[in-house]
Amino acid sequence: MAAMPSTSHYRAEESNKLSRPRRCAASAQRVYSPAQPLVPNRLGVHALVFSGSWNRADAERAILCARTAGYDFIEIPLLDPTTVDATMTQELLHTHGMEASASLGLNPHADISSEDRDIVAAGEQLLMTALACAAAFGSRYLCGILYSALHKYGTPSTATGRRNCVAALRRVCNAAAQDFGVTLCAEVVNRYETNLVNTAAQGLQLLDDVGSSQLKLHLDSYHMNIEENSMVEAIKLAGDQLRYVHIGESHRGYLGTGTVNFSELFKALSATGYSGPVCFESFSSKVVSPQLSNTLCVWRNVWDDSQDLAVHARMFMQSQIEAASKQM
Ligand code: MN
Repeated sequence: MAAMPSTSHYRAEESNKLSRPRRCAASAQRVYSPAQPLVPNRLGVHALVFSGSWNRADAERAILCARTAGYDFIEIPLLDPTTVDATMTQELLHTHGMEASASLGLNPHADISSEDRDIVAAGEQLLMTALACAAAFGSRYLCGILYSALHKYGTPSTATGRRNCVAALRRVCNAAAQDFGVTLCAEVVNRYETNLVNTAAQGLQLLDDVGSSQLKLHLDSYHMNIEENSMVEAIKLAGDQLRYVHIGESHRGYLGTGTVNFSELFKALSATGYSGPVCFESFSSKVVSPQLSNTLCVWRNVWDDSQDLAVHARMFMQSQIEAASKQM
């Protein structure tokens, strides 16, 4: 994120200069109010809320829709970083005054936690390519399931596989520090998406084993809601190692309509002084990614209107952050 604004305040004057994209205008019943107070965290939205592909037209529409909804940044998935044009992406971000972050999950053919050397090497190469791509479009973060494949494993992780993962991550962290200036954030996800890091405590153990200050923790409310005894305790345990947060509802739809206790979660983030990125993540069969939708088991329609969802989430997260900060 090269050209970062000093705050996440939505800039009303600049937004008025934008010609409103047609597909955003169709759902303008929710309007983000720029008069609200500042919040310390930069707020983002996953690109798959708007688009499952990243050609120039789809990328521009997603970036404009994210900005129209009041977000500071858009999270761009790099499951196959060779398919993302970093130069085009950087130009669009610059043109529309938006920042971006990058995320990925490895896959069974490119998995650094494998026992197969070729599969480990392919995973390491994918991470290096993603790092270069993320850095080229100005992202300061590469987050997600960086340490294993994003899929349902049929067996537990093995000691050999874990050693391979730690060794590869050390090399990738060195490159991230020396060549790219990108912080790696390992996302803690539920048991159906990895067999290696399902809790914040396991995430911290991975950070300890890798032993690089370039590797930090990424927590997600959707996953914590499944695996942790307490989201509050997980956030406190992560402490200053937490550098990236995903906000998702228990069914990955509209925030506040499922079982996640967001009030407790944002209070815990505020109590630990978390000031890093907060990114809304939501998936519906309405927007399909050939690479991601099936892997995440997005089988049903939990929303139809991307823009209404995005504006609602933006307002929801800001009101939660403000309520939490008032209670401190
Ligand atoms: Mn996530």
